[in-house]
Amino acid sequence: MTLRAHMMDVPLMVSDILVHADNCHGQQEIVTLLPESLQIHRQNYSQTHKRTKKLANALTNDLGIEPGDRVATIAWNSHRHFELYYAISGVGAVVHTVNPRLDPKQLIWMLAHAESKAVFFDVQFAPLIDGIAAMCPGVKNWILLSDASHADKVQTDCLTYEEVIKDHSEDFDWPVFDENAACGLCYTSGTTGDPKGVLYSHRSSVLHAMATMGADVMGVGASGVLLPVVPMFHVNAWGIPFAAPMAGAKLVMPGPGLDGATLHTLIDAEDVSYVAGVPTVWLGLLNYLEANDKRIDNVKRVLIGGSALPEALLRAYEDKYGVIMQQGWGMTEMSPLGTVNVALPKHADLSREDEIKIKLKQGRLVFGVGMRIVDDEGNELPWDGQSSGHVQVRGPWIASAYFKGAGAESFTDDGWFQTGDVAHLDGDGYMTITDRSKDVIKTGGEWISSIDLENAAMGHPGVEMAAAVGMPHPKWQERPLLVVQAKEGAEKDADSIIKYLSGQVPKWWLPDAIEFIDAMPIGATGKMLKTKLREIYANYEFPGVDA
Ligand code: AMP
Repeated sequence: MTLRAHMMDVPLMVSDILVHADNCHGQQEIVTLLPESLQIHRQNYSQTHKRTKKLANALTNDLGIEPGDRVATIAWNSHRHFELYYAISGVGAVVHTVNPRLDPKQLIWMLAHAESKAVFFDVQFAPLIDGIAAMCPGVKNWILLSDASHADKVQTDCLTYEEVIKDHSEDFDWPVFDENAACGLCYTSGTTGDPKGVLYSHRSSVLHAMATMGADVMGVGASGVLLPVVPMFHVNAWGIPFAAPMAGAKLVMPGPGLDGATLHTLIDAEDVSYVAGVPTVWLGLLNYLEANDKRIDNVKRVLIGGSALPEALLRAYEDKYGVIMQQGWGMTEMSPLGTVNVALPKHADLSREDEIKIKLKQGRLVFGVGMRIVDDEGNELPWDGQSSGHVQVRGPWIASAYFKGAGAESFTDDGWFQTGDVAHLDGDGYMTITDRSKDVIKTGGEWISSIDLENAAMGHPGVEMAAAVGMPHPKWQERPLLVVQAKEGAEKDADSIIKYLSGQVPKWWLPDAIEFIDAMPIGATGKMLKTKLREIYANYEFPGVDA
């Protein structure tokens, strides 16, 4: 029998992160590009804590928010959104972050499904709110994230944030309750069927933030300046709003300023050292830097995830701008952190080409995330760097179920979550994603990795973005179609792309056709939308092939 230890059983509370930041890093700043005015706003963690306590009083006294209630945000990254994260979860309610890029019908569905009682929104989303408010009977209060001077931009009957908190006390005793209580709710992108809600707990959020700050993860401390380009409506901005105040790092919130020019200005003016976001954002910034002959010398590292890091992007940032690109992998259901790419001591003497091969892997498992790779029959596959299979995970910040029991088939009977990704692991714990289970191109009994094919194509100088999709083929079941968005001004030359690919991928992977598209469809979280491509190219027939 084990011996019960004498250690305190103190619940892990999100509110304690902000208390700590106030006590130990009170003067550290949160800088926001204000959504309503595009002016810079500064406040420190102590001021933020005071304002958060005022908001907590407003939520409980004026807005009738009770423990367990859902409160929605449709908002950019800002100090107010940060305050909402802490005040809503701090009073025991649940922050329901809503992605404004979703279809209004989906938004209405989501607010009803979550039973969100109040919605806080940025002024850019006023037309969206005006279009859906009448269809959201469960929402009792709409609150514009600004002061009263912008209220005339909304037709819906609404309150304004600064008015709501203005007269409230700066005193609020954060309650301590079960650490397994929910603090956040984020719906998955929902490429098929209804979106599914992931409910984060205080415990999972605190543990995830602690892991995030590890030296081989983000490794940002009190001297770091973090700019989360990844939105707070997408998996809690990868947990950065919890990790940064825990470490005492300065936070730079870009509001709606996600274009290359604005990001460059913020990075430069605020001395940003660490930036996190999806590849499409880095592509935009790169185009801006190249076109305007600018640099981002203060940035030490970039965390890039959400989809695979294209080799051309890695080379451009590292070789030309001296910025270390660090690939991470995760998902909404994983809070999202699963793996981060860091080199091991044994890699110190590798050639640049071999180093790049390692950097293009999705990264090494972060402690806390258990993983296994299984075949179609559920047999575990070896960590040999070759055997690709379905990725299953488990751990304290990984969902054990979806909100209201949806998608039960994603959870195995023995306690693992099926990610829907296909990957292999090597003996050092580096994972390489080869595909989404549903995107693998199955040709003549073999699998082609759509990700590898896309990455190779994106190295061609005339290709801005490329997506490989499996299309029906009478002989091979499926063959790859490569859909390409050409770089501005570049010739749309399919033969040259095929020729380029010939040296990079096995011959049988070469696309049977290349189609050019003016603008790649991009989903609500900044990723290429393959579902949309499949709609566009439904009934596609490869030239010269009889169906
Ligand atoms: P989401 O829940 O919207 O964040 O999407 C999660 C999915 O994005 C994962 O299951 C992967 O399919 C994909 N993803 C995330 N990071 C990466 C990466 N570094 N490389 C390839 N795919 C990724």
